[in-house]
Amino acid sequence: MSTALDVKRDLYSFGLIGFPLGHSLSPQIHAAALQALGLNGEYKLLPVPPSPSPRGRGNGAEGKTLYKLENVLEQLRAGELRGLNATIPHKQSVIPLLDALTPTAKAVGAVNTIFRDGELLVGDNTDAPGFWADVQQLVKSREREADHHALILGAGGSARAVAYALLTNGYFVTIAARKSEKAHQLTDQYSVFRGQLAASDMNDWPASISHSSLIVNATPVGMFPHVDHSPWPEGVPFPEHASVYDLVYNPRETLLTRQARAAGLPATTGLGMLVEQAALAFKRWTGLEASREVMMKAVEGQP
Ligand code: NAP
Repeated sequence: MSTALDVKRDLYSFGLIGFPLGHSLSPQIHAAALQALGLNGEYKLLPVPPSPSPRGRGNGAEGKTLYKLENVLEQLRAGELRGLNATIPHKQSVIPLLDALTPTAKAVGAVNTIFRDGELLVGDNTDAPGFWADVQQLVKSREREADHHALILGAGGSARAVAYALLTNGYFVTIAARKSEKAHQLTDQYSVFRGQLAASDMNDWPASISHSSLIVNATPVGMFPHVDHSPWPEGVPFPEHASVYDLVYNPRETLLTRQARAAGLPATTGLGMLVEQAALAFKRWTGLEASREVMMKAVEGQP
């Protein structure tokens, strides 16, 4: 058992595996949480190319130290690292290398947080509960019991986590993707929620829009540097009683959130979800509650 003093002496070494990693806010978020708790530690970016590696110039690997997935996991197993986050392209590829999954990671089929439980390496998904915690702030004053209809734009990794969070909390969900087969794949994955879930084609804008109470952008459309793009189709009015959640957080205000507010709807970007998923991962790794406020302050003004 660690005493409080032992904990202070420990080095809390965390890392993020992904490729390419580019500019991540996670090091600042976790450094702020560690500092506020008086703990020593660091959060390293660990670029792990997919296997086989992408070739040629502009593959994101120039001049960077690259790591192997197996080796990084070995460091975690050996206690040299205390926790890992995983992002694209490893949220699924890491699963066969782990010993166990939490029920959420198993249901979503993706891992963004890895921790050690005794001898075991366990994969968790904190994106789903992170989204749920933050979206409730947005919809709490807006929704009535009968209004739980969500429209999710996109059918990738984060759409799966968002859909799971909404479905398990009683929402009816429509997935709209630019390739409808991707939307159908997602609905097939959640066949246990059959009566609550529909797939749709973004090009054939879904009829269910008008009674959506929540619209979630789970595509990268509007993300820097393409800040003048919006996933919402021109000329289509927003549903009158909806709230709009954009998972994109760079920039802090997107064209979509500005369009929604101009139509009188409450809207937010995804920085709150980023902080929530980080705080839940931090708890997994340390057993300690991180201050969301401190984490948010560390990145609010950052590009
Ligand atoms: P992903 O797995 O690559 O999925 C992206 C989805 O968006 C796919 O369905 C893709 O369709 C669709 N898409 C891409 N470009 C599109 C376009 N121009 N028009 C219509 N659809 C398009 O990515 P992800 O991990 O889900 O991430 C999506 C966004 O969420 C990113 O901006 C990411 O930064 C953000 N995110 C934020 C948080 C947070 O904490 N706030 C967490 C996770 C992700 P195709 O399959 O046809 O390409």
